[in-house]
Amino acid sequence: MNKAPPKNGAAAVHPPKKIGAHGHPFTPKWGKVNVIKHDVVVIGGGLAGMRAAVEAAENGADVAIVSKMHPVRSHSGAAQGGINAALGNREEDSPEAHTFDTVKGSDYLGDQDAIAAMCEDAPKQIIWLEHRGCIFSRLPDGKIAQRPFGGAGVQRTCYSADVTGLVILHTLWEQLERFNVKVYEEYFCTALSVDDGIGTGVVAYNMRNGELEEIAAKATIFATGGAGRMYLKTTNGYASTADGMGIAYKAGLPLMDMEFMQFHPTTLKENGVLMTEGARGEGAYLLNSAGERFMFKYAPNKGELASRDVVSRAEWTEILEGRGVEGCVLLDMRHLGREKILERLPQIRELALDATGKDAVNEPIPILPGAHYTMGGIETDKFGATRVPGVYAAGECACVSVHGANRLGGNSLLETIVFGARAAKHASQYVKEIGDVRPSGRTLAAERDRINELLARPSGVRAPALRHKMNGAMSEGAFIFRDARGLAQTYDQVVEVRKEFDKSAYVMDKSSTFNTDLIGALETDFLIDAALCLSKGALERQESRGAQARTDFPERDDEKWMKHTLAWREPDGTPKLDYSRGITITKYEPTVRTY
Ligand SMILES: Cc1cc2nc3c(=O)[nH]c(=O)nc-3n(C[C@H](O)[C@H](O)[C@H](O)COP(=O)(O)OP(=O)(O)OC[C@H]3O[C@@H](n4cnc5c(N)ncnc54)[C@H](O)[C@@H]3O)c2cc1C
Repeated sequence: MNKAPPKNGAAAVHPPKKIGAHGHPFTPKWGKVNVIKHDVVVIGGGLAGMRAAVEAAENGADVAIVSKMHPVRSHSGAAQGGINAALGNREEDSPEAHTFDTVKGSDYLGDQDAIAAMCEDAPKQIIWLEHRGCIFSRLPDGKIAQRPFGGAGVQRTCYSADVTGLVILHTLWEQLERFNVKVYEEYFCTALSVDDGIGTGVVAYNMRNGELEEIAAKATIFATGGAGRMYLKTTNGYASTADGMGIAYKAGLPLMDMEFMQFHPTTLKENGVLMTEGARGEGAYLLNSAGERFMFKYAPNKGELASRDVVSRAEWTEILEGRGVEGCVLLDMRHLGREKILERLPQIRELALDATGKDAVNEPIPILPGAHYTMGGIETDKFGATRVPGVYAAGECACVSVHGANRLGGNSLLETIVFGARAAKHASQYVKEIGDVRPSGRTLAAERDRINELLARPSGVRAPALRHKMNGAMSEGAFIFRDARGLAQTYDQVVEVRKEFDKSAYVMDKSSTFNTDLIGALETDFLIDAALCLSKGALERQESRGAQARTDFPERDDEKWMKHTLAWREPDGTPKLDYSRGITITKYEPTVRTY
């Protein structure tokens, strides 16, 4: 197993003979195992993953993508409102102004050097996309159009109607085809291989035939997206299950700032589907049961365009204080007129019509805040590098940190593009310098045992039941407003779920072709890790900052809490928190944040 496989080829590796089947009729049959080998392997085919792969290919690296689904089905394709960049269309805008808005939006928790790097790269990356055929909406003079977005001082959000993510995703897919990047589709990555302190690739489960495969790589870039599925209701797709975060955490890397989960102010009550911030950017109102535009009570200057944490808290306060409409507030677009809605917001009109039967052209849409974006993630530096050489992360699964305690709308698509490219550039250089890597095979063997054990268990609790329990606990105690009692209860409940999962998670389907029961269980395992880090981090952070609103500690406490939270995995899966990483401040001293 230690032998280096031939270049680009598949070497036969024989599995260990003893495989514990625990006396159950299920007998695992691992066949001949392929060892796949590339310079750079990117886990995930969303925007961060594809941008990374194209950059690595342009830098001459032999690169492949491993993805549990077809890349263009990634959650990035659901992004609606747009992507921020100070393009220079407006005199008052600049990368520096963008940097300041982002630092302020982050409630001063973001690292200012990383934020500045992102905002400076932004215009170049938009032009890079444009030159590769990305169809942005335009102004009459042909310039790329930009709409106002929450927390931004000027109109800075480039867009393609309300389907921006999809348009960029297809642009990048074309580039993958152009460079002939190999995509291992429907491969589910289960673990990271670290040998002698360096990353040597990953282990992945081929969902088509149930084989576990070793994928050797000199550099591995995680781009596996967010963790919204920790909550009962979320805007996130079914695949946003914290996989990369869980994999890194299990491999001994820390997750950073996990307590900061963004709740988006406008999601449909019926199914959690997002109504883009672009709607408010185009001028939509938020109304309470009295028909009042209540946001000006909470954000006198910005109103509906305050940052997301502020708007979500305001809505939830209206609802809690009895000024809601059946547990919601209303998003009113009627005054925008039919033509503008059909031109700029066609998708959300349809999504709302399908889910609620209400046509936004004629009626306000009931909405409420929902879990949307995971600000925390795998700790990286501003080049996407983690603490383990050869292991990188980019996009929503990473925490660089550019969003700090609260992300501005339009900065996440930007993050995927900027840090996908930056991580790949760094990785491409790294692979030139390092010799051949040889995974020891230990991770593959351990993963085989772990999955066999799960499959061989004859009875127990099914993963969806465990996931539901965790979802309930998170939605109850780790939602918009938090306090010590609720968070402690949530954390204890998730610890119980962790124990129950380890002891008795049961996969009913024993087959090896598209075993979604097994995949769902593995995803639930990752989600539990993320939920543990989130609830413990939120409990320990005794202050209110950005998306973390503690009713028992309502003030921001810069003296004690200007520091990142690092969560390291203990042997029982629970996190040990460490506050050794400070915040990088370059120019902007923390001040009171008002909108
Ligand atoms: C509804 C919605 C609208 C949004 N709108 C905007 C917006 O307008 N502007 C903005 O800036 N941001 C927006 N966001 C946020 C933004 O879209 C995401 O943060 C971003 O697209 C994430 O991209 P990603 O590449 O990191 O991950 P994703 O696009 O989620 O891709 C993850 C990839 O990882 C793969 N993967 C995951 N786990 C595994 C595994 N175990 N093995 C193999 N492959 C795996 C998946 O197959 C997938 O290809 C929106 C988010 C949502 C949910």
